[in-house]
Amino acid sequence: MNSSETKDSHLQTIATDGVNGADSCPAVDWASLFPSSGMPAGGSSVLLHACCAPCSSAIVEWMLQNDIHPTIFYFNPNIYPREEYEIRKEESKRHAESLGIQWIDGDWDHDAWLTYIQGMEQEPERGARCERCFLMRLEAAAHKAVELGINVFTTTLASSRWKRLDQIERAGFAAEAAVPGSHFWARNWRKGGLQERRNQLLKEFGFYNQQYCGCEFSFR
Ligand code: SF4
Repeated sequence: MNSSETKDSHLQTIATDGVNGADSCPAVDWASLFPSSGMPAGGSSVLLHACCAPCSSAIVEWMLQNDIHPTIFYFNPNIYPREEYEIRKEESKRHAESLGIQWIDGDWDHDAWLTYIQGMEQEPERGARCERCFLMRLEAAAHKAVELGINVFTTTLASSRWKRLDQIERAGFAAEAAVPGSHFWARNWRKGGLQERRNQLLKEFGFYNQQYCGCEFSFR
């Protein structure tokens, strides 16, 4: 099943379940938000869940060039130890501030994250633990998007060649289903030259470039 089929079938599920119905929240005209190009209409606001500054840089630049206004949500309780988390967080904040973009600090509760992935500690990277990790972060992003009245959310996780897009997509749509009023923008953020641009911007901004994914189980 390709990504558009996944999205269509998921939207069908939403319609069938009535998640967007009058009982739960106002109906959203997704067709106007997502024209045939698959990206929000010009001038739209998007909540961008950011895993780190390097992975955000080319995506943010592309959004701004396409009249899409991102609000960065930094929520990554998976990162360990705390010192590493603080370094990545400050880099993300520095990046947003340099561009005048709103930046929101999520909580860092690593114990809650450990509880969330309990039983999956020995899973390999790109295995079941990672999909669960994505789900926790993207559900929080969906909640934050709705809280801010932005509704559309996406994630920089989909820019990393180290991560599985199918897992990110499943987690994003599951988060969307769990949070009425939210809509996951599934997009492969490696394409369209963004991977190459990311590497250029990494040098231009002089970003800290982490050497492992984030959790203690991903130390190399
Ligand atoms: S390896 Fe990365 S994506 Fe996987 S569980 Fe650890 S922090 Fe999350």
